Amino acid sequence: MLIIVCGHCGYVLYEGNELKTLNEVVREYANVCPNCGKTLKPSVQKINIL
Ligand SMILES: [Zn+2]
Repeated sequence: MLIIVCGHCGYVLYEGNELKTLNEVVREYANVCPNCGKTLKPSVQKINIL
């Protein structure tokens, strides 16, 4: 399972079994976190859970 979160506020941007890249997810949100409004690019975090 893959979880991608905003590094500023911890908002979950993607959660699921599909193997997405950070770039794909960040692009879906137009580089901006919908929760805190900050730029995602340098801070987004990818967490893999087995
Ligand atoms: Zn955020």
